[in-house]
Amino acid sequence: MQVLIVYAHPEPQSFNGAMKDLAVATLTAQGHGVEVSDLYAMGWNPVAGPDDFTGPRAKTASFSLAREQTVAVETGTLAADIAAEQAKLTRADLVIFQFPLWWFGMPAILKGWADRVFARGFAYLPGRKYDTGMFHGKTAMVVATTGTSEDTYAPDGIDGDILSVLWPIHNGLLRYTGFDVLHPYMAYMPARLDAEGRATQLAGYKARLQSLSETPRLFFHPATDYGPDERLKPGVQARSGVQRNV
Ligand code: FAD
Repeated sequence: MQVLIVYAHPEPQSFNGAMKDLAVATLTAQGHGVEVSDLYAMGWNPVAGPDDFTGPRAKTASFSLAREQTVAVETGTLAADIAAEQAKLTRADLVIFQFPLWWFGMPAILKGWADRVFARGFAYLPGRKYDTGMFHGKTAMVVATTGTSEDTYAPDGIDGDILSVLWPIHNGLLRYTGFDVLHPYMAYMPARLDAEGRATQLAGYKARLQSLSETPRLFFHPATDYGPDERLKPGVQARSGVQRNV
């Protein structure tokens, strides 16, 4: 399969860098094609705005990012850096997002990658979301590091359930656009472990990469579980992410 690793860490010698390098080596050895978007090394511009377009403004009275994205996708007038990332996404069967958890989310450079690359018309349109999302058939996996322990990210931990912390990425970005989402691979507080602890984390990640086809997917309610108001139908037990019955 073809794999895209979107990697966001400013330091190549970081633990995230080691995980990215391990993924490239392991997946390549398995015969997969691997591309890496190393956002800091690329000098990726994370700020979405008027400079994202090379054609004439579709709407002149006021600037609408979504409107300009839609027209630019149709006319092939997105900026070259965005178009190149979209081509990588189109080629990919699996997309791995490799990053350190910063303020309970992605580093801004990666969030800005999503803002610009997951453009309206390319990643979503009316009627094309979740089960009918535009990336249906593709798989994604978050691989992240933290500053604190696995206990702090337990369901009763001080930081909250890691699957709740990652829900905006898993559901809002990936499932929304149609991806099947694998359980994340978390390397908890690598900076506070000894060499043996970090080696165990890397070995665990290598084992994950070698068993992707058996890795469980996160559960998301199918469209048939929702009523016309897009709320779970009465009697459907909320089972995914942060959703709950009320
Ligand atoms: P590094 O510090 O780069 O590496 C850890 C250790 O691994 C180092 O000793 C390094 O030398 C070693 N190492 C590197 N390569 C290898 C290798 N090949 N083999 C073995 N060891 C190796 N944490 C949270 O939990 N929640 C938050 O919300 C959060 N917000 C943050 C916000 C900001 C702005 C910042 C800067 C940090 C935040 N943190 C948070 C902490 C952050 O998540 C961690 O510092 C980060 O995830 C650690 O990963 P790293 O790759 O940067 O580790």
